[in-house]
Parts: sequence; C-alpha cells; structure tokens
Amino acid sequence: MTLSLLVLQPTPFCNIDCDYCYLPARTDKSHMSMATLRAAIHWVIDAGLVGKELSIVWHAGEPMVLPPAWYREAFTVVGEACPPGIGVRHSIQTNGTLVDDAWCALIREAGINVGLSLDGPAQLHDRHRRTRTGRGTHAAVMDGLGKLKAHGIPVHAICLLTRESLRCADEILDFFIGCDIRNVGFNIEEIEAAHAISSLQAVGIEAEFAAFFDRILERLRAAPGQLRIREVEDVLSALRHPRFGSLTSNCQNTPFEIVSVSWDGRISTFSPELLGTEHPRYGAFAFASVHTDCFEDAIYSPRYRLVAAEIAAGREACRHECAYFPFCRGGAPANKLAENGSFAGTETLYCRITQKVVNERVLRALEHDLIRAS
Ligand code: SF4
Repeated sequence: MTLSLLVLQPTPFCNIDCDYCYLPARTDKSHMSMATLRAAIHWVIDAGLVGKELSIVWHAGEPMVLPPAWYREAFTVVGEACPPGIGVRHSIQTNGTLVDDAWCALIREAGINVGLSLDGPAQLHDRHRRTRTGRGTHAAVMDGLGKLKAHGIPVHAICLLTRESLRCADEILDFFIGCDIRNVGFNIEEIEAAHAISSLQAVGIEAEFAAFFDRILERLRAAPGQLRIREVEDVLSALRHPRFGSLTSNCQNTPFEIVSVSWDGRISTFSPELLGTEHPRYGAFAFASVHTDCFEDAIYSPRYRLVAAEIAAGREACRHECAYFPFCRGGAPANKLAENGSFAGTETLYCRITQKVVNERVLRALEHDLIRAS
C-alpha cells in the first residue's frame, strides 16, 4: 500500500454556504491542533504508507479560514515529523474569498499548489456559491484571483457544473480563458453526504452533458494549447498508460491510497468525502484515531473490513459488467453509497456522466480526428 494523497482537515468550518455542499459540519469552527497534526504525520509514516513523496491537500472545510501563521507552524511540524529524504508537497483547495497579500506571501514561500473553486461567470457562480446571508461570492473570488495573479501564483480551477451550466459551454470557456486560467477541472453537482439531490437528476441529462462536452472539445480543437481540461487529460493519460486495460482499481477504491484525517485526528480512507460521515449500515467511516490507534487497529477493525470488502465487491462487479472499466477502474465508493445505498453496486448518475459520457465523447473526437487524418 502506498499513499498517493493525504487529505488533512485543518477545520471543518467554511466561511460561505454553497447550496450543493456535501460537508456535514461546515458551521463547526473547531481546528486541528499541532499535536494532532504531528500524530497524523507519524501515523501514516509508521504505517509504512509513505514513499519518497508525501502529497498533502488541506481541504474538507475552507482551509484559508485559518491564518497563514497557523500554516507556517503546521508546515514546520510536518517537516519535523517526516524522516529525511521525504519530499513534501502542499496543496490547498480554496473558495478564494479570503485570499490576501499575507496568504499570497505564504503560497509563494511554501510553493503551495492552489486549486480555486470557481464556477465560471458570475451568473452561474452566484446562483450556488453564496454567503450565509445569501450574497453571491463571485466578486470576492475574482478579487482573490487578482491578488494571486499579481503575485505571479499559478492557479487551476475546479468548476462545478449544475444543469444550467450545461447550456453555457462557451460562456464558461470564454470566462476561464479571459481570466488566464489555463487548467480547469469540471466537477458535477453530486448526490453525496449532506447533499441528497442534484439538478442533474433529470431525464435526458446524459444527452445534455454530451452536447456540453462536445462543444468543449470543439473549442479545444479549434485553439490547441489554450486550455487544458482535466477530464480530457485523464482520458488521454489512461490511454497512454503502459498498463492500460490491466489496472484493476483507482485511488478512491484502493485501501489507504488516500488517507483523510479530520481536525480531531479521526482517520478514514477510500473517497475523501467519507470523512466525518456515517451510515446506518456501516457506522462511522472513521476507522482509527491518530491519538489512540495504530494502522493494524484500523485494518483489523470489523467496520473497516466490512467497508473494504464491499468496496472490493463493487469494484469487481464493475470489472465484470462495465465496458468503461479500463478508464474508471471501479468508480467512487462515496457516490455508490450515496446513490445506491451500498458500496457493492456499480453504476451511478455520477459515473454515467463523468465516466461514460466523457469517455465516449473524447474517444469519439479522437476517432473523428484519426479518420480525417487517414
Ligand atoms: S463507469 Fe460506473 S459502472 Fe463503469 S466501472 Fe465506473 S463506476 Fe463502475
């Protein structure tokens, strides 16, 4: 087992209140202590999960709620807890509303990789990404983006798509090109944890998404190199992988490839969205505490074994049933649970859109280009 991503929750709190948010405790202002952080790093190292690199993403609440001084101390703690020879890479996924010059100085100083949650132009973004008093946050995010750019900090964007976004492919692309953001990933409004319904639960949504994605591809091909879309890059890198077709799992359904640690030191694995949630059948998805349990306590716990066995069963069912398995490699456990009520199932709305439609449209575009070139 090798850890590819350590998700640390500095605080569950978020300063805004997006209506599609899945985080169950986003009004809780607790934050991680340095003792918990040190114990979390020791936990993953003592478990033998860390290779030459440790990639940390600060997420699962708005990370910038805590000040730069907190992170300076945190980065020192992480550095001290890691044995020599391990390279540490820090990333944050932020709503961008709290960026100031002090944050920009820290980002530059520590080389933090910044992902900005930005849903395109204001008329799309402000419908969902609002403050607790209902005001849109687009202007504040653009202000933050301006500061990041003024400090020469590269940013990639995560743009969440609701049903209305699907009619606005050109507006969304023009917006990101106009902002000089060159890397964009599309998330979709998922049915997950605290967010139980999605605007994408509509008859014919696959066709709507296909039309959206076809337009994205058309624009990318008309102006090569202008913009990189994560979903397209994922399909291409899967095809280029020397073991394409023989890989049998992905990072979300492989035990301990992702480890998530809550602010108070509870450990979870598989989909990061499982952190802090529970289910009547499985109980809490925290399998251990960094303060009281070791790795073996986690992997031999009955709850972990039940969850891991059902996730493996779901992955195997996908491998036997689904033509898209070489790309998807068995899906996202959190989505399977939220949509199907079990980890052991296969297809979800999430995978129909983000895997089946996306792969189909990208492969179709590649075939089209090959035929034209032959
Ligand atoms: S696309 Fe859906 S059904 Fe197919 S492997 Fe992925 S999760 Fe399973």
